[in-house]
This record gives sequence, structure tokens and C-alpha cells, in this order.
Amino acid sequence: MAAYVRPRVVLYNPKAVFHTMPLALVALGSMLDRRRFEVVIIDGRFEPDAARRVVAEARGAVCVGVTVLTGAPIHDALAVSRAVKAAHPHVGAGRSVEGCAGTVTRAGTAAPRPLRDLNALPPHDYSLIAVERYFGAKNKRQLDYVSSQGCRFRCAFCADPAVFARGWTGLGPNRMGEEIADLALRYRVDEIAFQDETFFTHPARVAEFCDELRRRRVRVRWTATLRADQACRMGEPLLRTAIDAGLSRVMIGVEAGSQATLDRLKKDLRLEQVLAAAELCARHRLGAIFNFIVGFPDEPESSIEATLALAKRLRRMHEAFETPIFYYRPYPGNPLADEASNQGYVFPQTLEAWADFDYVGQSGPWVTARRRREVERFKFYVRHAWKPGRWRWPLRTAARWRCEHDWYGLPLEKSLVELVKRPQQVS
Ligand code: SF4
Repeated sequence: MAAYVRPRVVLYNPKAVFHTMPLALVALGSMLDRRRFEVVIIDGRFEPDAARRVVAEARGAVCVGVTVLTGAPIHDALAVSRAVKAAHPHVGAGRSVEGCAGTVTRAGTAAPRPLRDLNALPPHDYSLIAVERYFGAKNKRQLDYVSSQGCRFRCAFCADPAVFARGWTGLGPNRMGEEIADLALRYRVDEIAFQDETFFTHPARVAEFCDELRRRRVRVRWTATLRADQACRMGEPLLRTAIDAGLSRVMIGVEAGSQATLDRLKKDLRLEQVLAAAELCARHRLGAIFNFIVGFPDEPESSIEATLALAKRLRRMHEAFETPIFYYRPYPGNPLADEASNQGYVFPQTLEAWADFDYVGQSGPWVTARRRREVERFKFYVRHAWKPGRWRWPLRTAARWRCEHDWYGLPLEKSLVELVKRPQQVS
């Protein structure tokens, strides 16, 4: 009797400057019955000739799937997809995904795929990827992990409300504890990076998860997203419990320093909550990244000023606080992008144009060149003004003086540093 040859499924993650593990592909591969299918995940970030490798693996495969984030990675996704199409125009089982819930094809958009209880899905099989290579690229034994899907909030610039219809589903704390204990041991993990949109949605889940880690004697650091209002609601004792269970850094989307802009963004957040959350983190020496965005359509100068002032205020509260500032780029599928489009903003019309539409280093037409230059200088000096490190003191002293005096003219230090280390240009 002839041996059963498992049909191959090839999944590709395009080149990008970040080294987050391709969890979407791992999730897909984990869903497939490995006795029936062979799953090959290829990551362009580790392949000298990714197109050649994908084309070779695609020979005889039933399916080739490519995941992609917005911006520059689309270039590589297109190149690899085209190479596969050219080499294997008939790859696949010959069936269309048309009508499959949650898909968009040239024929149209199918019904949305409802959220499923994550607990009913199999655990992610990390043996599908070369975990050690990611550790090497990140220069730390940091494992990416996702414990929930969706978000209950309604921010007007975000795609999540449209994609998940403000739904949320999460793994139970027992399963999280069990999986993380196993992964931490198996891969000798130092840190778990939770990639959840809103990790702290249910305080009771967080509390039980911390108990699970303690009960299983799991000693790993972990990082997660936190909304400032959630930090206020969950209260100090639970935050302390999470820190004792390994929480080492949170990422808080603040977006703006003006209450009027926050309201316009439907952030459902008060500036007082941002400050209260920051004080809580500082008191417990918890690292925090507070993300900001400037340059919303018709954003008043006073709003941008308020954002820069808040970013500086937070940055100086604790040396372990960071305050990255991005420029608003409209991505479709939300009220703010619709508003921009109604006002005449033209979105990219081709995939190549979308590949050149990057959220790193680019700003929209609502930021003048002068304002952009000022923001770039501000970002540089605020970052260095409170940066610890013995050998950084000359730059730190100069940067702090500038921040204290709000003077960012003649940025010699910035020019010198950027001569040595060019800032990141694209994602
Ligand atoms: S920005 Fe964050 S909190 Fe707001 S809707 Fe998107 S995922 Fe939710």
C-alpha cells in the first residue's frame, strides 16, 4: 500500500524591521491536523532568498498563504506572491474561498466572521517556527503570546471596532497559566510579550492568571497593553499583584494631550486618568510606554502643543517611562478615515502605493513641514533627557536643559547622533 503523502500548506511572513513572532501563521498552522497536513512556515526576515524558498516549498502544495502588516512589508509580500503565481499558476485545490466568512475577494466581501471562544481552539504550536532565531534577532529570550482577541472600545481611528464589532474573547486563566508554564520551561523564556489588544479587559481574569503563575512557580517577566482608565478601575492592589507575578512593562495608548481631541477620537478616556495611571506605575516602578499620535485631520496647533507637553510631563515622571509620538495616518474602516475621505483625502489606489504608505517616519497632509521638524526635534530631546546610562550624561545634560527651556533650535546633538545611527525609516 502506498504511504499517505500529507498535502503541504505553505505560510509566509514577509520581511519587516520588527521581529515579533508570526502568531497569526502559528495559529493557522496549529488549527490544521498535522497527521493530515504538512505545515511549513517561512519567515522572510530570516531567509536570504525568500521568494526562491517559498516557490520551492510551494511545489505540490495545496495552499500558499501570506500574512502582512500595513506599510513596507507589503513590498515583499507582493514580490513573493507574484513569484509563486508565476512558478505555480495552478497551486491549490482549485477551490475558491469566495463566500467564506471573514474573507474579501475580488468578487466581494463575505459576511464577517463571528468571534469564537478562544478556549475551543488548540494551543499555538511554537514548534512550527524557529523560536531561537527570534530570540537571537530580538537579542532577548522574549516569547510573543496572545491570550485574547478583540476590544470593547470604540476609538475613531482604529480598525478594531469594525473588525471585532467591539467583541472580546479571551483564554481562561488556567489555560494561560498551563501554557505559559510549559513554554517558559521548554524555551527557557525570560519574558512573555502579550500581543493582546487590551490585555486587562477583565480584572478577575488578570487576578486569576497571576494566581496561576504563582501556584505553578513560573518566574518570567511579562509585558502587556493597558488602558489608563483600566489601570484606574483595577486599582492599586491588583496592579501590585500583577507586578509581583512578573509584570514588568505596560503599553498605554494615550494618543493626545488635549481632552477635546481625546473626545473627538472617542477614546473614552480622561486626562486625569492618564496622570493617575502614570502615578500608579511610577509609584510601583513599573515601566510604561505611553503612545501618542499627532497630526489628526485639522488638529489645532494647541492640541499638538498639549500632546507634546503631556508627553514631556510623563517622560520626566520616571526613567522607565517612554513616550513615542507617531503621526496620524488614516487607515480605512473607521469614522476618522471616513471623515478624511469625505474632506477629499485620497487613499492609495494600488497595493504598491499601500506598501509606500507607512506609519513609521511619514506624516499626513495635516502636519506642516515646520511642525514636523519641531516634533522630530522634540522627540529626540525628550527621549534622551531622562535616559539612564553612565556614558550618556553629556547628551542627557544637554537634552534636559533644552527640555527644561523648551528650546530645540540648532539641534547639533541630534545631527551628530543621527550621523552615527540613522533613525528607522519604515516598518
Ligand atoms: S485603539 Fe486600542 S482601545 Fe481603542 S479601539 Fe483600538 S484596540 Fe481598542
